[in-house]
Amino acid sequence: MINERESHLLVQFKSDLFENLYVSKEEFLLEKSLNELINKFCTFFQTKNVQFVINKNNLVKDESFFYTVVFESIEFIEDWRLSPFYLQWEDDVNVKLVRGTHSIETLVFLKDRNYECFGVLILDKVNETYSNAFWQQFSATVYHFLQQVFQSAAMFFEQLRLSLLHDITRKFHATMDVDAVLTEITHSLQEIYPIFRYYLYLSNDSTDSPKIPFKLLDYNENDTPAMESYVTGELRKEIQADKQRLYFPLKGKQAVYGVLEISADVTITISTSEIQFISNLAQTAGSAIENAHLYQQSKQLVTDLRLVTKISHQLNRNLNMNEIIKYIVSELKQSFSADEIGFISLVDNEPKILQGSTEYFYDEKFQECFQFIHSRIQRGEDSLFIGDLSKERNGQVQKFLSLMVEPMKQESDIIGYAIVLHKQPYYFSFGTFKLFQSITHHSSLALTNSLLKEELEQLVITDYLTKLYSRNYLDDILHQSMIDDSEGAFVLIDIDNFKKVNDTYGHQVGDVVLIQIAKLIKNSTSKYEISSRWGGEEIAIYLPNRSLEDGFHFAEKLIDLTPKHTSPQVTISCGVSHWQKGDDNNPFKLFKKADEALYYAKRAGKNRACTP
Ligand code: GH3
Ligand code: MG
Ligand code: MG
Repeated sequence: MINERESHLLVQFKSDLFENLYVSKEEFLLEKSLNELINKFCTFFQTKNVQFVINKNNLVKDESFFYTVVFESIEFIEDWRLSPFYLQWEDDVNVKLVRGTHSIETLVFLKDRNYECFGVLILDKVNETYSNAFWQQFSATVYHFLQQVFQSAAMFFEQLRLSLLHDITRKFHATMDVDAVLTEITHSLQEIYPIFRYYLYLSNDSTDSPKIPFKLLDYNENDTPAMESYVTGELRKEIQADKQRLYFPLKGKQAVYGVLEISADVTITISTSEIQFISNLAQTAGSAIENAHLYQQSKQLVTDLRLVTKISHQLNRNLNMNEIIKYIVSELKQSFSADEIGFISLVDNEPKILQGSTEYFYDEKFQECFQFIHSRIQRGEDSLFIGDLSKERNGQVQKFLSLMVEPMKQESDIIGYAIVLHKQPYYFSFGTFKLFQSITHHSSLALTNSLLKEELEQLVITDYLTKLYSRNYLDDILHQSMIDDSEGAFVLIDIDNFKKVNDTYGHQVGDVVLIQIAKLIKNSTSKYEISSRWGGEEIAIYLPNRSLEDGFHFAEKLIDLTPKHTSPQVTISCGVSHWQKGDDNNPFKLFKKADEALYYAKRAGKNRACTP
């Protein structure tokens, strides 16, 4: 039985204790109430030093609100059996004297209704002895108090989490900015669970903000828990040494956008309700990122569509090829901020740089780049989208690291390439690549049309058999030269005794000899010197800005080379004429003089050159 004095003390203790519980209700009461409890113990036992060890599992299950506070005099023990007090208490004993570190200590075992020990008070002294009945009621009071405190704390904490989740969700729905979402989620978590460490893993198109600490997900490492969580969209756990890590997928309706890593010491129990809460948060963030992505995507799509429409509109204006390319290059340069943009047509597997392409493509160094591109496309790749060219080329140093290539096709034949380059690695996004493809496809038709038109024009001015220019073309050039230049030499060539070649070997062999001579002439002239098939077996060469003497030497050189380059061997005769500014000139006079000179050469015994 409890005596009157004990009963009085208990009433006093109880009222002191609970009065304070209600006073501190408005604030976050866990810390205050528990410190108050320690104070009351001190008062009650008239000591300055009380340590309280609480068997956590006996009082609260699955609550992590403890993580928010640290107590000096209170220790929470997760597994009671591991505590040093486990074997020390007995059913009928409440108080025990033990040898402490400095002196004799008193252990007071506080027990619940089932005589389970839920806490141990360690006092440096006890002045009075109390009855077992007293200890039972004392224990019950403390037990009741702790339950009240923990329940309120749990409720308070739950409320905090809910309002946080509510706030975050509202904020997430208000923003279309992925960075803002990611920043918010890490900050909020840091606030509510300061003892955890946070890390974000993101897929490479999620954000480019340097403000947020994140790692890019490494797609080559399939077996990391972060990657597993990303791929499966499920929570993953990992324990390594003294650290535990949880991976929460940031999941939207359509995809997973990243992974949130939470790490903590293994000694910390992260409860299922905590995991549930963080999962919810991660999912909210996932759908917010998705919304932001969709918004950005649709915005980008509208911009892209505008550009494609604008370009298509221009292309329909029947521009010539130079104009088309100049226009596309300037548009692409602006929209992609590319370093170099080139349009290359393929002539017998050799690149022909189309006018309007940027400088680099005319550089010798491009040849090697072209070979790389061409062989990759020949091997069956539809197009190229490369983020780090040096990686593709065995670490070789490259001036440009980002590359996009789209072939231009006529039917299924590749007739050229559109090429975009940038010095920085991974400069172009996949969206940009898609847009580039779309623009190239749209321009392809206009480009191939003008390419074909050019080819046709070339065909018109080219002689079919010898591939030399046609006589008409030479005529035009001569007219223009007589306006632009100050002089020019004209060489007319006729094969000697050609009838005999035809008669002896047949007409076909005769043709071959003609082609051989045409080739020799092509190799002996620069691109400014125009050679054309003049008549049947006659060839004319015009050398702008050259003297009569130059023309004569040129003719003699050809006469010397012809027998060495023909089979069956033939010789040629040449008539050389000349014009200069100030004379009464026209192309016809020039031809006529050359024709006369040729006649002299024949008369003088052939295989020679003559001037008028
Ligand atoms: P000459 O040294 O006086 O020039 O004697 P020639 O036999 O060459 O006489 P001429 O220039 O008058 O003869 C032209 C001959 O060239 C006539 C024709 O049989 C031949 N010929 C002209 N065009 C072609 C051609 O496209 N192919 C071939 N195989 N022969 C041609
Ligand atoms: Mg002739
Ligand atoms: Mg002849």
